[in-house]
Amino acid sequence: MNNERKKIEKRLDKLLRQIVIERDKRCVTCGSDSVILQCGHLITRNCKSVKYDLFNVACQCRNCNFKHEYYPQHYFNWFVKKYGEEELERLTQRSNQIKKYSISELETLEIVLTELLKLFFLTTEPGKGVNK
Ligand SMILES: [Zn+2]
Repeated sequence: MNNERKKIEKRLDKLLRQIVIERDKRCVTCGSDSVILQCGHLITRNCKSVKYDLFNVACQCRNCNFKHEYYPQHYFNWFVKKYGEEELERLTQRSNQIKKYSISELETLEIVLTELLKLFFLTTEPGKGVNK
């Protein structure tokens, strides 16, 4: 993995975290909003094909994000309740694809996610966002 790739992936991780916090506002599995909030991946981020999939990420507190590794059922239950079994099936199918992003694909993704984050800020009530 070269340096340029690492740098972009680091920025993408940061963007994803900002997006899920802005979108979900609180930990989706325990409801907390007063702790350190992270970007929790339903299907492991080692699955590159769904690493940046917005269905595969949600806002989680550090505690729940950590617990997900040995007790994933809680987050899966939340997902099914929110999006349904069929969406989980589609996400699982996407996760089984092999994906290797090129640098230019990562750059495009960064542009898209940056714009998406701006949209979330625009459509969010003032004072209720990530910076509170
Ligand atoms: Zn939590």
